[in-house]
Amino acid sequence: MLLTPRVRLKSALLASAVSVCLVAASAPADPLGVGDRLFPYLGNPGYDVASYDLSFTYSGVNSEPLRAVTTIDARTTAALDRINLDFAHGKVDSVQVDGQPAAFAGAGDDLVVTPRSSLPRGSRVRITVRHTSDPVSADDRDGGWVRTADGLAMANQADAAHLVFPCNDHPSDKAMFTVRVTAPNDYTAVAGGLPEGVERVGAATTWTYRTRHPMATELAQVSIGRSTVVHRKGPRALPLRDVVPTKDRELLEPWLKKTPEQISWMETKVGPYPFETYGLLMADASTGFELETQTLSLFEKDLFTEPGYPKWYVESIMVHELSHQWFGDSVSPRSWSDLWLNEGHATWYEALYAQEQAGRTLEARMKVAYSASDRWRAAGGPPALPKAPHPGQKISIFRPNVYDGAALVLYALRQEIGRPAFERLERVWVHDHRDSTASTADFERLAERISGRDLSGFFKAWLYAEKTPAMPGHPDWKPTAPAARAEHKAEPKTAPRPGRTAPRASE
Ligand SMILES: [Zn+2]
Repeated sequence: MLLTPRVRLKSALLASAVSVCLVAASAPADPLGVGDRLFPYLGNPGYDVASYDLSFTYSGVNSEPLRAVTTIDARTTAALDRINLDFAHGKVDSVQVDGQPAAFAGAGDDLVVTPRSSLPRGSRVRITVRHTSDPVSADDRDGGWVRTADGLAMANQADAAHLVFPCNDHPSDKAMFTVRVTAPNDYTAVAGGLPEGVERVGAATTWTYRTRHPMATELAQVSIGRSTVVHRKGPRALPLRDVVPTKDRELLEPWLKKTPEQISWMETKVGPYPFETYGLLMADASTGFELETQTLSLFEKDLFTEPGYPKWYVESIMVHELSHQWFGDSVSPRSWSDLWLNEGHATWYEALYAQEQAGRTLEARMKVAYSASDRWRAAGGPPALPKAPHPGQKISIFRPNVYDGAALVLYALRQEIGRPAFERLERVWVHDHRDSTASTADFERLAERISGRDLSGFFKAWLYAEKTPAMPGHPDWKPTAPAARAEHKAEPKTAPRPGRTAPRASE
């Protein structure tokens, strides 16, 4: 994710439990989690999802709940009397487990399913939930569906996929996805992955898409709108497709056509593009952020049409989201405390691209980051030990400490181990952990193996310490003392919501 300037440091999403229509189960149900330090109730223990089949029916009115069927194929990793799913913003009509009706109840953000008989460890299970998916946010909780001028898009990061569909909503459980959208004939639906077919029956059309690589729930994308899909080829004939409001197609083409070159540029840095397709989804909406949804990154259209942004800046943001396809999507975080690996790398390639294409030197940007780093650590925690999100503002884990503050850690690492070892580390990292999840400890181990050095002291100081260590090779770089005003700016007590903020101003 990248918060664009007007809300880059201040943004809010979430927090609330939302009503689920309930059928009482025999005993009280408890919400469970996988023990994420930042989001304790996210995800669920005892099973591993292999695939999701999501089916949405859209009425043509983006304030009305969609009808939906979510089918989850999973394998149990423990004996289970109940299966907890994350789901918190829709009405559940029925649940079946392996074709048999099952009892269900809400508990916090969980939908707790009780099958007729308990499930032994290591068994395959199919859970089918008929439900609604409500695109209108609860008062105190954004995220999930994004209502656009002509339909809907999706923005689930970090913990909002379960506002859209029942799931195991944690990036440590990636799965394959099939998405079907039925919409009135004058709409176009696009989801992550490749198209599997389009079927028109009367006044409605059903569009089907399927991923070719596993994906975290937070990275799912579904666009429904009066859209045009623009096709072109990337490196080695990689199919690219952008999804744009039909009326803006010509206006956006000068930006869209930059993608093949940007993919080639990233490939020279870290190796082959990791997925089956890529493209930009240009949403006519005021989100205040861009998001690296897998194979189809979400952008606010205004980023490209407002004349105030320098060309190099817009291009570097395109590269930020593109680089997430390697860092964050193909290699996704084991826990949300590993977020610095996503955002630090995306910021790194964003800055490197701006250096190579527009002469905005990485060193100058890192020197500025160094001077602010102690402030960022005080406000948001050290890069790999971020502070918990504020209640009601869970997006506030997306703080400067995990953007430029984390890119600064990568810069220090490159200074420490040298450019050849650093560049090799980047390539091996995305190769060895592709289609998987990885942790900060995995990154540390690989850096040590490739450099042949004990880096435990280096990482302890740079990733976990309250104060920023001295920058190798730049003894003259100094942190500036925390200033009360700057502090307030970095961590506002009451953050405006994305899309409801004042006009963009650069910070
Ligand atoms: Zn990002």
